[in-house]
Amino acid sequence: MQNPTIIILLFFIIIFGGCNAQTDLNIEKNKSNDFWKKKLSPITYYVTREKGTEKPFTGKYWDNNKKGKYYCICCDQEIFNSKYKFKSGTGWPSFYDVSLKKNIKLITDLSNNMSRIEVQCSNCNAHLGHLFNDGPKQTGLRYCINSCSLIFKN
Ligand SMILES: [Zn+2]
Repeated sequence: MQNPTIIILLFFIIIFGGCNAQTDLNIEKNKSNDFWKKKLSPITYYVTREKGTEKPFTGKYWDNNKKGKYYCICCDQEIFNSKYKFKSGTGWPSFYDVSLKKNIKLITDLSNNMSRIEVQCSNCNAHLGHLFNDGPKQTGLRYCINSCSLIFKN
């Protein structure tokens, strides 16, 4: 018969080992509005947590041509790669593809008397922008994204 202490010890190693295996990204999921208000600038809070839209040609990234990656500003999950960015002329950073499909959620958005597809970060539910089907030929898609919902790193 095995020593029960060892079995109990193994049990705790498995449980706590499992918790430690969770990434930091998962922790961001269910934060309160107060948490986000403290963490984010007013415009970023308005866009990402209240589904707002920044004014065109005002954001940091619509005209950014540097090579690198764009991450969710709320939780740091990778969303876009500069290789999919294109000049749309809209005044918002525009991409024809995402880095990883699983890193975004697409949601039907019927607000403002329009039928659109909302793009959210799949990890923290941040509102990022909208998806349209008038993009360049590579995919035909145009991810129209608010600069302030992203953080660029190269
Ligand atoms: Zn996020």
